[in-house]
Amino acid sequence: MDFKSLVSHSKEYGFVFQSSEIYDGLSAAYDYGPNGVELKNNIKQYWWKSMVQMHANITGLDASIFMHPKTWKASGHVDAFNDPMIDNKDSKKRYRADVLIEGYCEKIENKIKKDVDKARKRFGDEFNEAEFRSTNGRILDRQAKIDDILSKMNNALRDADMEGLKTIIEDLEIACPDSGSKNWTDVRQFNLMFSTQLGSIAGEEGKLYLRPETAQGIFVNFLNVQKTTRQKLPFGIAQIGKAFRNEIVARQFIFRMREFEQMEMQFFVKPGTQKEYFDYWKETRMKWHTNLGTPADKLRWHDHDNLAHYADAATDIEFDFPFGFRELEGIHSRTDFDLNAHQELSGKKLQYFDPALNESYVPYVVETSLGCDRMFLSQMANALQEETVPDADGKDSIRTVLKLNPVIAPVKVAVLPLVKNKEELTKAASDVFDKLKTSFNCQYDEKDAIGKRYRRQDAIGTPYCVTIDFDTLEDGTVTIRDRDSLKQERVNIDDLKAKVFAGTDMGNLM
Ligand code: ATP
Repeated sequence: MDFKSLVSHSKEYGFVFQSSEIYDGLSAAYDYGPNGVELKNNIKQYWWKSMVQMHANITGLDASIFMHPKTWKASGHVDAFNDPMIDNKDSKKRYRADVLIEGYCEKIENKIKKDVDKARKRFGDEFNEAEFRSTNGRILDRQAKIDDILSKMNNALRDADMEGLKTIIEDLEIACPDSGSKNWTDVRQFNLMFSTQLGSIAGEEGKLYLRPETAQGIFVNFLNVQKTTRQKLPFGIAQIGKAFRNEIVARQFIFRMREFEQMEMQFFVKPGTQKEYFDYWKETRMKWHTNLGTPADKLRWHDHDNLAHYADAATDIEFDFPFGFRELEGIHSRTDFDLNAHQELSGKKLQYFDPALNESYVPYVVETSLGCDRMFLSQMANALQEETVPDADGKDSIRTVLKLNPVIAPVKVAVLPLVKNKEELTKAASDVFDKLKTSFNCQYDEKDAIGKRYRRQDAIGTPYCVTIDFDTLEDGTVTIRDRDSLKQERVNIDDLKAKVFAGTDMGNLM
């Protein structure tokens, strides 16, 4: 389904609302509704279980959002957490310079894709895309142009060369997407951290930042955790929490927000072994996504050419969002940069005593950093489908169905009395509901015809619908309908719990 339909479905079915909607909303802030919060919590739980519960050497942490301001000096965020911004003088719209340039390249890439599609149609089954891309003159020229632009841009970003970025925009004659104007200001650095003021202390001294990443709470607690858990290297610390970035342009729904949630894990290793663990976490994280049912062809690697100041290797897992492949999760080999910097600025030792070597050293860190909201969006985008299925009379009808993995579906079972005005039925249905609600998030629904109720559950991704009818009163059995196969099966009420558990147990994915 297209992106617009996804956004309106998210609102209509209580997944995501615009923040402060009655005041016309606040840009790039969103609220998770009744179904959204369940889905989000399930995603977090899947992550937490596979990280913390499944790894004896990973433990959790919940650090505060506010940290001592020196934290952000040490981490480099005060001096270097900037994006290059540019304003259009006519439309007064603000953009990220690198995003404008990448957008230009994407248009060329789309032209390449069109040529590839045309050729595929022409050559049919014999078409070899890789060969076509590597031999067709026009495609080679276009690809060379993209490579050249991106390489110039990456060099300018690496050298913080703001003039260089502006020259690229001018040379390519990039126009403001809003107004078409090419009347640009200079490119300036824009720090992405939000700041606020501590209670009674005025001025710079009381300046606090809202954390732009959760990782630093883990670094400063590294020894607290190690000492209290008596972990030996390698070991990890996992955390889920809010992060804040004053993004220059925040759009594409919950993909880029100013307040979002991260699921991060910092894995502390002996210096020299970081490559081995970088590879381990790359493989493990990709498997986590595919185990949930995200198709492998919707995920791809993107290695960073432009390494951040703290990294010796970095890659992203990108997902094919409705607006193209974009970063979903980052896996970074962060060296000993952060611990060293905190050690230096705080004057406190942040070293691990290695009993095998009988010496102390600062460990290296490999981190995995996943945006909870982007994960949510990827699952919604993957799952939302329109399908032709037979209706109650056997005629073709179109249903909208959210084919979420049952493990993360907001509601696991809907309990539906066949009709609402028969007290014996509604009583029996309430009893079934009470039996199941201690184990699963369930919904009771007696309004409208049964077909309509099935469709409502399909639209929010409920894997099972249990219908209570007159036979139930006779023999204690109910009908259980499977969301995907639409198969209906008669089962005993006493077997329901085991059946739903078998289909929705998170352990199935581990
Ligand atoms: P991008 O290049 O898209 O700005 P990033 O490289 O700055 O992302 P990281 O600093 O690696 O992102 O953050 C780790 C993860 O946090 C990202 O992979 C993404 O899933 C999530 N994330 C980062 N910024 C945002 C945001 N503004 N809104 C929602 N999620 C975000």
